[in-house]
Amino acid sequence: MKQFFLTTAIDYVNSRPHLGTAYEKICADVIARYKRLCGFETRFLMGNDEHSQNVFKKAKEEGLDPLAYCDQMEREFRKTWAYVDVSFDDFIRTTEPRHKLGVTEIARRLWDAGDIYEGLYEGWYCVSCEEFKQEKDLVNGNCPLHPTLKPEWIREKNYFFRLSKYQQPLLDHFAAHPEFLQPDVRRNEILSLIRGGLIDISVSRAGQSWGIPLPFDSESVVYVWFDALINYASAVGLGGDPELFAKWWPADLHIVGKDITRFHAVIWPAMLMAAKLPLPRQVFGHGFMTLNGQRMSKTLGTIVDPIEAADRLGVDPLRLYLVKEVAFGGDGDFSWERYDERYNVDLANNLGNLVSRVTSMAHRYRGGRVAPAATGNDQLARLGESLVAEYRDAMDRFALHEGAAAAYKLVDGANEFIAATVPWTLAKDPAMADRLAQVLFDAAEAIRLAAVMLAPVMPASSREILRRVGAPADGLTFDRDGRWLNVGERVVLQEGPLWPRKEMTTVTDNPVPPDGPAPGALPPVSASVIPAAAPAPVAPTAAPAAASDRISIEDFMKVELRVAKVLAAEKVEKSKKLLKLSVDVGTEQRTLVAGIAEAYEPDALVGKTVVIVFNLKPAKLMGIESNGMVLAASPDGGKPTVVSFENPPEPGTRVR
Ligand SMILES: [Zn+2]
Repeated sequence: MKQFFLTTAIDYVNSRPHLGTAYEKICADVIARYKRLCGFETRFLMGNDEHSQNVFKKAKEEGLDPLAYCDQMEREFRKTWAYVDVSFDDFIRTTEPRHKLGVTEIARRLWDAGDIYEGLYEGWYCVSCEEFKQEKDLVNGNCPLHPTLKPEWIREKNYFFRLSKYQQPLLDHFAAHPEFLQPDVRRNEILSLIRGGLIDISVSRAGQSWGIPLPFDSESVVYVWFDALINYASAVGLGGDPELFAKWWPADLHIVGKDITRFHAVIWPAMLMAAKLPLPRQVFGHGFMTLNGQRMSKTLGTIVDPIEAADRLGVDPLRLYLVKEVAFGGDGDFSWERYDERYNVDLANNLGNLVSRVTSMAHRYRGGRVAPAATGNDQLARLGESLVAEYRDAMDRFALHEGAAAAYKLVDGANEFIAATVPWTLAKDPAMADRLAQVLFDAAEAIRLAAVMLAPVMPASSREILRRVGAPADGLTFDRDGRWLNVGERVVLQEGPLWPRKEMTTVTDNPVPPDGPAPGALPPVSASVIPAAAPAPVAPTAAPAAASDRISIEDFMKVELRVAKVLAAEKVEKSKKLLKLSVDVGTEQRTLVAGIAEAYEPDALVGKTVVIVFNLKPAKLMGIESNGMVLAASPDGGKPTVVSFENPPEPGTRVR
């Protein structure tokens, strides 16, 4: 059986996991779940890095034995990972005996090879980074990452690893294996670092008790970074279980943050070369997660708790946001508003709404049973097949965001398919019964296939969607389930909304200015017509939106604007501002309510061509169900002007 061994960085346990930490684990989890779907026997390793002097200090501060402190933190980490549905197969702690065996094995091999030698270390050391710093790396004499912390000048007996010896072998390896370090931007950084010359590095600390003693000098412990890197090999039996080690080593993929890429792409492969062990096949250095553009930091108060974020909208909405909104490999930003907004757009209005529409039509027109008919039209099927190919290509490159986007293209395709085939019209014509059956089956099948593609990202939601469209959710495999299946009857379930729309009235950070929502925020949900009382929150008076607040063309295209012709208009009783309109939208006739009575006489509107938001959820206003929203310019304090045309196009024409 083909197999895949992937790892994440192991975490320092001197603080609890935050959203940045969770981001890495969730992305790794998506890859692990994808590989399992593709039929790989997968080993997904995570763990905790415990031999840190900071951990030792923190434990002492809390009056705990270091190991007891680490036990307590392990529970915290495991709780968080279980909460956000991270499906690791193995979890290593560097205080475990199996890790000690691996570290001892590597240290002995390097010592025997003459690649570790004794020397005197004198230089700067940042206690917080637990890293030796070169003079040239300091900024105003301080560590660049800890500008308020004076590095210590250390002078002690150390053992050194001959990293310098591996400059050329590393360059050769990079040349022979361009895939070794991804994405390319990291690869270029690291290559220029290696070309700039490598110096030997200290691999031990003298006079400390918290750590693994060197096999050839029990007075010294292995330096925490050197120790930590070895976890990937000790977890699969290095120095203890040769059979397990032979099965799983080398790792297929190390996923790490960009800040520690050089440890994984320079020091670690050099250590393995010196130990005469195979190198991991790939290192992937992902970017950082910021909060409203700021680095997540405890001192800045910009830490987001992943459990809090998951509790707000759900675990899967959080996972989808992290995967779909950030190009994996680049930096990403989290904001509470954007998180809410994406939830409404991607889940409540789009995927959730599609599932509701299709399951409810299946019940209304076919008693909840859908099956393909002889007169199949394979337009959506072809789209589905090509998007699966696009998805797999993206996921195989770990372009997770592109994978999620491919699944969403199928969701969009299904929505457009429904708009184009108008099942509610087909339902009126008995001669179209077969066509209607096929249309409903195709729509349900598109949902099923999108749910399979989204299974690695939203495991629980995917199961629920599959259940609702009457498709198997257990033991999914791409070979069986990752294709367009135009067969069999499915019993579809009509149930409540998967993701109820989130009211966007409160915002946690970036307080709402008193005169309306922040730029980029959606108006309050009740606004299914032009808000009658408050001026509409349209752009002109607001500050220009920051680039990060801008939406993509895909987002815009989700708003279906259509040309509509007003057939009738009348005042809404007891309302000064509302008019009830009957409009022709090309495919049907609709009733909607608009807050334009102060600017327009009803009769003056009849025959006028306007623009409406076609795919807005219905809302009741003064007891009338409004199906859409008329676009109008609404100046502050002035009367609204509806958007119209010089040469009106046909009703139903899409506006974009
Ligand atoms: Zn530092």
